[in-house]
Amino acid sequence: MEEPISADRPKRRKRNGFKKFWKLGVEEYNTQHFDINSDGELIVREGNYQYNIFDIVKKYGTSTEIMFPTIIENRVRDLIDTFNAYIKILGYRGKFYYHYAMKVNQNKEFVLPAIAEGANLDVASANELFLVKRMIEQDKFNAKIRVICNGPKTLKYMNLIDELRTKGLLVIPIIEDYVELEQMQKFKGEVGIRVNLNIKVNSHWDKKFNRFGFTEDELLKLGKIRNLAVLHYHISSQIEKMDGLVKPLKQAMELYSELVKKNPGLDTIDMGGGAGVPYERKKFYTGKSLIQRLVRTAKAEADKLGVKHPNLIVEWGRYVAAPAQMTIYKILAEKTIDAKSDRKWYVIDGSFMNDLIDSWAIHQKWHVVPVNAMNTRKLQKVWIAGASCDSDDKYTAGGSYILLPRLEDAEELYIAFLDTGAYQDSLASHHCLLSSPAKLIATNGEIKVARRREVPEEIGRLFGW
Ligand SMILES: *Cc1c(COP(=O)(O)O)cnc(C)c1O
Repeated sequence: MEEPISADRPKRRKRNGFKKFWKLGVEEYNTQHFDINSDGELIVREGNYQYNIFDIVKKYGTSTEIMFPTIIENRVRDLIDTFNAYIKILGYRGKFYYHYAMKVNQNKEFVLPAIAEGANLDVASANELFLVKRMIEQDKFNAKIRVICNGPKTLKYMNLIDELRTKGLLVIPIIEDYVELEQMQKFKGEVGIRVNLNIKVNSHWDKKFNRFGFTEDELLKLGKIRNLAVLHYHISSQIEKMDGLVKPLKQAMELYSELVKKNPGLDTIDMGGGAGVPYERKKFYTGKSLIQRLVRTAKAEADKLGVKHPNLIVEWGRYVAAPAQMTIYKILAEKTIDAKSDRKWYVIDGSFMNDLIDSWAIHQKWHVVPVNAMNTRKLQKVWIAGASCDSDDKYTAGGSYILLPRLEDAEELYIAFLDTGAYQDSLASHHCLLSSPAKLIATNGEIKVARRREVPEEIGRLFGW
């Protein structure tokens, strides 16, 4: 049977072309909730709700971050379900626990949805643990939730750990050095210990000198460690290749099989963070394939070494949080780079050094799309300039270029940086005293303002004025 011919068919095909070009609606890019409407505007779907991002930024202004708690929920649920599915399929006999690494994004709109979907927590400081205390006091916390405590255990931190343990929270401090080992002799609950595995992976953070945790040799010499339940490692973040997550697990499993001889209470391996997101990249491993490899590896190694299958923990933060936020700017002006260049500067009403600091700190690349005028055919190669007075405040996609609509083809142009939900907010700063972006939450089809754009009085106060 022939397909019916309808008037809007050619138009729809065109729209699909643009959708593909901007890499929207593609699961591998984590843009499965994103779409483009017939006017060339960016759309985000949440179940049957739909957000028109162009309308939202026209109403609330820029610079603006929009958070999508549903995306957090979906990603946490998927992650836990996928681990549990492979545990069942592959006959793995340990349990799986997901711990959301709070340092990745401490906003309430990120943490609460993660917990609601079954996440436990990993905190990095006394102040993060204080937020856990707040949640307990506000009855937002299921008593079964487990909290792993990383980071240097200051007296304040240790006291809070003790206090929450006494109140019945399952809190597991991770011992990171000899001082903490001594300190933890008095601790009544289970503890973990961190190993600095001697292994190299592809990632910005794989440093020659790692200051976190004990070496494998040191751990083997420690003998019995009081109340030891968890062997923990955290190699790096945004690990580029799947092997960079699989090999450390193998190595940790060998160490585990040694440690368990003197520490029969040891029953868990905590693999830390490190799972990456594709950002702008074409080929990247998927969460599903990674999880399958990890469970398979854990099983094969444990069986080979003749030890009980350990429980598995991951503390993936970026993987869950990055896709749940976008940051939006308006293009204020266009400038010539130099007479010979086919590129132009687009100046935004925000700052990379302030709002998307990893662009500056680690040359992070982003998936950038227009918020409107997405269906124009002629595009301009651009570099994007931040609004601070600093020549470092720029984004050039690593010296290459970003393709965006030409300014003469759109009355006004807004652009969205996707996947900005991990790390940027708590690293944000106030160079040139620019205002931080407003924070909007898109949930249940409505927009809520979580933080207004800062006014001069508020910023001045931060600096004693
Ligand atoms: C930063 C950190 C994480 C989260 O890392 P991601 O790469 O974002 O997954 C997890 N565990 C520890 C100990 C960390 O320091």
